[in-house]
Amino acid sequence: MASALSERLSRLVKTMRGQARITEDNVQDMLREVRMALLEADVALPVVRDFIARVKEKALGQEVVGSLSPGQALVGVVHKELAATMGAGGVAELNLATQPPAVILMAGLQGAGKTTTTAKLARHLIGRKKKVLTVSGDVYRPAAIEQLKTVTQQAGAEWFPSQASDQPVDIALAAVDYAKKHYFDVLLVDTAGRLAIDEAMMAEIRALHAALNPIETLFVVDAMQGQDAINVAKAFKEALPLTGIVLTKLDGDSRGGAALSVRQVTGAPIKFAGVSEKIDGLELFDAERHAGRVLG
Ligand code: GDP
Repeated sequence: MASALSERLSRLVKTMRGQARITEDNVQDMLREVRMALLEADVALPVVRDFIARVKEKALGQEVVGSLSPGQALVGVVHKELAATMGAGGVAELNLATQPPAVILMAGLQGAGKTTTTAKLARHLIGRKKKVLTVSGDVYRPAAIEQLKTVTQQAGAEWFPSQASDQPVDIALAAVDYAKKHYFDVLLVDTAGRLAIDEAMMAEIRALHAALNPIETLFVVDAMQGQDAINVAKAFKEALPLTGIVLTKLDGDSRGGAALSVRQVTGAPIKFAGVSEKIDGLELFDAERHAGRVLG
C-alpha cells in the first residue's frame, strides 16, 4: 500500500531542509508526487495532466512559497482544487422543478448500478414526500424488469409493468401517461445498458430522451471502473445532455479517482454516491470528503 500523499510530501520537504526558499524544482518534485497519487487513485491521465497544470499555477504563487511547511501547504492547495473541481456548484440535489411527473432518465453501462440506483432514488424521493413511479425500458433482459419490480417494492414506490415485446419509447410514454393520471410527482426511467459502449444502445437512449424530455438525465458510473470511466463518460456525454452523475460502489476499495475524470469530461455535477448494495446506500456526494479519499 502506497503511503499517503501528505506523508510522501513531508519526506520530500525534509530533503529541502536548510534551503532558504522553495525552488521551482522543489515544486516540480512535489507535483510529481501529486501526479502519482492521482494516477494511483485511477484518475485518467489527460485529466491528471490538466489538473496538475492548474495546481502548479497556484502552487508557484504565494501560498506555498511563503509557507513554513510547504508540503502541508501544497497538500492544502491540491485538496482545495480537487474538491472545487469535483464539487463545483455545491451539493446538487435533484431538480424536480417542472410540471409533474418530473421524469428522471437513468443512463449507464450494464452493471454500473442503474437499477439499484433507481430504487435508491425512489426511496430518497419518498423521504422527500414524493409519490414515485418506476419503469424499466430494458426489454432485452426480462430479468432486469423483474429486478426493478423487486427493488421498487423494497423502496416502497410503485412499479409500472413493461412487456419485453414492446418498444422502450412506447413503454416509457405509457408510464408517463399513467403517472399523470395517477398524480405521481416523479417517474424514474431505468434503461438498458450494455457491457460496452454500443451504437444501438446510444441510439435507443437518445430516442428515449427525445420522447420523454426528462428534467434529469443521470449518468450512473461505477467508481471501480477506474481509468476506463473517462471513455464511457465521453460517449454518454456526446449522446445525451447529462444533468448529473451518480458514482456507485464507493464502498469498494477504489480511491474513487473516477469522480474527477467523469466530472471533468462531462461537466455535469456529481449528485449522489452509492455506498452499499442496500436500498438506503445512497448519499449526497460530498466533494470535500471525497478529495481526501482520492489523495489517500
Ligand atoms: P445495472 O445493470 O446498471 O442496472 O446494475 P445493477 O443495479 O443491477 O447493479 C449491478 C451490481 O452492482 C448489483 O450486484 C448491485 O447490487 C451492485 N451495486 C449497485 N450499486 C452499488 C453500490 O453503491 N455499492 C455496492 N457495493 N454495490 C452496488
